[in-house]
Amino acid sequence: MRAVDMSCEVVAGLVVPWLGAPGGEEMSERELDAFEQHLLYCPPCMAYGRNARIALDALRAAGPGAVSRDLRESLAALVRAAAT
Ligand SMILES: [Zn+2]
Repeated sequence: MRAVDMSCEVVAGLVVPWLGAPGGEEMSERELDAFEQHLLYCPPCMAYGRNARIALDALRAAGPGAVSRDLRESLAALVRAAAT
């Protein structure tokens, strides 16, 4: 799959694994390449990826004890739901 062939739907579905969120699937290196290339030329996907990353980074920065595992998983589920 070439980078330009990756659709926005595919990219949206890869945001969670890209961020390493709980429950996400592993990405292959080719997927990662295509995904990051797509973000460079697709502003909506870039914005979506950035927002999802900010949300998850904030949770991580809060520390493992500060946020319950349930809350982290709820957020990951929300990100996944928004991606479909
Ligand atoms: Zn896109």
